[in-house]
Amino acid sequence: MQIKGSVALVTGGASGIGEAVVKHLVRNGAKVVVVDVEQKNIDRVVNDIKEIGGEVIGVQADVTSEADTARFIDATLTSFGQLNVAVTCAGIIRDGTMLSMDKQTGKVAKKLEFEKWKSVIDVDLTGTFLTLRDAAEAMANGGQDGLLVPISSVNKVGQLGQLNYSSAKAAIELMPKIIVGEFLLRGIRNIRCVGIAPGYTETAMLTRMNQEALKAILADVHIGRLIKPEEIADMIGYCMTNTALDATTIEITGGLCYPRGVAK
Ligand code: NAP
Repeated sequence: MQIKGSVALVTGGASGIGEAVVKHLVRNGAKVVVVDVEQKNIDRVVNDIKEIGGEVIGVQADVTSEADTARFIDATLTSFGQLNVAVTCAGIIRDGTMLSMDKQTGKVAKKLEFEKWKSVIDVDLTGTFLTLRDAAEAMANGGQDGLLVPISSVNKVGQLGQLNYSSAKAAIELMPKIIVGEFLLRGIRNIRCVGIAPGYTETAMLTRMNQEALKAILADVHIGRLIKPEEIADMIGYCMTNTALDATTIEITGGLCYPRGVAK
């Protein structure tokens, strides 16, 4: 699979890792579809891409909506005639421990809000499923080479304060194995699935994290810095061209270790 001439769809493509992915693929000759929730963010990225002469469309959509998902897949096929790569970067965090105790009474003062649980599962897990399912349908019917790239996280191993997010990301890590096994079962040979599990990456998402907690985590990153979104984008480009990669989720963490040096 070549990047040049391929058609890539990126959800969450107007910020952070997704934005880096669309720009990396465009620079290497792909046509791109930028899907995101905020029209003004989409417009900014689409304009950037047009300025460098790239072929791009932007589609405002909510990845939790089945109708929106069908709409952005249709828009892709209408504009570019095929779909080769789908990267599911749309994601949110809504952190908090399941229970918080009142120090005075020793009783439960607060429970993780159902809304925090549901919104993360809806966007991160259900949104990923819907995009992968409908992208795979377009690729299977089109018959061209395809690659599905669900975005997991290093916190798939279980992060305190992220019961919602870690649960979603653990489930996403499994998707390549299950989906590719099903493709084999159903005689679908043209679509690979490779997940990416980034470590702590320099994007807007991290500004929403507890900054003290982030500082402590960075002390356990072997390379001593946050990962750049462009480094994740580069890995995704590599996954396109190395067609032996399939049915797996690749970690790119900068050597993030548990405290006292056990690698995650
Ligand atoms: P980001 O900069 O916040 O980008 C995520 C994008 O998804 C934003 O533009 C966001 O829009 C959009 N989005 C949110 N809800 C959506 C919805 N319902 N429909 C469509 N788009 C929606 O975050 P990022 O750091 O690039 O994260 C990209 C992916 O990598 C996420 O899946 C994240 O979990 C994963 N990841 C990130 C890190 C990290 O350290 N940054 C580490 C591991 C994994 P709004 O901003 O307008 O809400």
